[in-house]
Amino acid sequence: MLFYSTKKNAPKVDLKTAVLRGLAPDSGLYMPEKIHTCVSSFIDSLGDLSFQEIAYEVASTILQGSIDKDVLQKIVYETVDFPAPHVRLADNLYALELFHGPSLAFKDFGGRFMARLMAHFVKDSEETLHILVATSGDTGGAVAMGFLDVPGIEVTILYPSEKVSAYQEKQMTTLGRNIRAFEVKGVFDDCQAIVKQAFQDDELRSRINMTSANSINISRLIPQTFYYFWSYAQLKDKSKPVVMSVPSGNFGNITAGLMAKKMGLPIDKFIASVNANDVFTKYLNDGNFTAKDSIATISNAMDVGNPSNLSRIQDIYENSLSDLSKDVLSWSYSDEETINALKDLLGKYHYVSDPHGAVAYLGLEKFIKENPSYQGIFQITAHPSKFLDVVQGAIEREVEVPTRLKSLVDKDKQSTIINSDYSSFRNAFLKAINS
Ligand SMILES: *Cc1c(COP(=O)(O)O)cnc(C)c1O
Repeated sequence: MLFYSTKKNAPKVDLKTAVLRGLAPDSGLYMPEKIHTCVSSFIDSLGDLSFQEIAYEVASTILQGSIDKDVLQKIVYETVDFPAPHVRLADNLYALELFHGPSLAFKDFGGRFMARLMAHFVKDSEETLHILVATSGDTGGAVAMGFLDVPGIEVTILYPSEKVSAYQEKQMTTLGRNIRAFEVKGVFDDCQAIVKQAFQDDELRSRINMTSANSINISRLIPQTFYYFWSYAQLKDKSKPVVMSVPSGNFGNITAGLMAKKMGLPIDKFIASVNANDVFTKYLNDGNFTAKDSIATISNAMDVGNPSNLSRIQDIYENSLSDLSKDVLSWSYSDEETINALKDLLGKYHYVSDPHGAVAYLGLEKFIKENPSYQGIFQITAHPSKFLDVVQGAIEREVEVPTRLKSLVDKDKQSTIINSDYSSFRNAFLKAINS
C-alpha cells in the first residue's frame, strides 16, 4: 500500500516514509492510495470478536501487507489494551467511552499506535529520532505516555505556560526519562510556530533526525478507525439505522469514522458536533470554507479554526459536497448549551460526561428528535476529571478523579521555561539534547 499526498504534488511513498515524515513535502497530508472494503463475513461476525481482534483485522485491511503481520498484530494488541465501554443510556442511546487509556483521552489510540509504529521503523537506526510536538493540552500527555521508554526515540513537548490544566501539565512534565517538556511563555500558536520553524531549519535538520507527532500523521488516524467497528459491533439490534456523533476539532477522529464507512461499516450518518468554532458547519451549509482564528471555549480541545483534516475528508468524497452532505451533518453549540447538556445528562441518565462528550450529545439529541427511527451513539473523548472545574461547576457535585491522575499531584514538575521566539527554543533544545 502506498500513500499519496492530498495536495497531489509529491511522490507516493511507503508506510515507513509517510509515518516518519508526517507531512508530505508539498505540505499535503498522506492518505492510503485506496481504501479497501472489509470482507462481508467480517462485518457479519463483528459481534463475536474482541476489540483487539476487530482492531487487527481493520488495520490489516487498511495497510494491505505494508508491514509484517506479526509485527502489526503486536502493535495493534498493545495499542488497544484498554477497554472502550459502550454504555447504554436509554433505548437507542449509547455513550462510547474512549477515555480509558493512560492519559484519559481518546488521543491515546493515536499516540500509542504511532509510538509503536515509529519505534518499529527506527529500531535498526543508529541515530536517535527526535519527536517534536506542540500541544494545547491533551496531545502532550498522550504522546508522552505513548513514547515513554521507547528505545532510540526522544520526545520534546512544547506547551503554553499557564494555558493548560494542572493535570494536563503534570502528565507532560513528570515522566522524565526520554520525555522533556518546554514551557513556552506564550500561547499555543507560538508553540506550533516554533515547531514549524524547526522543520524549516535546514541547519538543525542536517544535524539531527527529527519528526513531528501532531495529528496530521497518518499513523494517528489509522487506530481511530478501530473503535467505530467495535462500537457498531456492540449494538444488539442491527435492523435500525445507526448514527454516530463525534465531537470535532481538527477532524481527525471523524475522518477515521468516514474511512470506516468507506470500508463497509454500516454506520448510516455521522454528526460533526462542534463548539463555537464552526467553520466546518458553515462549509457544509454553503460550500465555502473560510478558516478563522480559533475561539476559546470550555471544550477547548476542539478550539480549532482551521481543521487540517478537511482535505482528507474532501478526498474520501472525491470533492463532492453533495455526497459528503448525505453522510455527514454538523451543528455548533455554545458554552451555555454545553453546560446545560452536562446537567441534562446527569439529570436524565445519571451520566457524568466531559464537555466534549456533552457537545456530541447535543448533536445526537437533535438528530434523533428529527429522525426517531435511528439508534444513536455519541463519543466521550475525555474523562470528566480532566476538565474538573467546568464539569463540577455545571453539575454542582464532585467528580471522582481516577488514581492515575490523582497520584500525579505529588510528582515534581520538570520543565524548561523558554521565551516564545525561535532562537530561545533552538538554544535550549541543542543544550538539552547534547547534555
Ligand atoms: C483532540 C480532542 C477532540 C477533537 O478531536 P479531532 O480529531 O481533532 O476532531 C475532542 N475531544 C477531546 C477530549 C480531544 O482531546
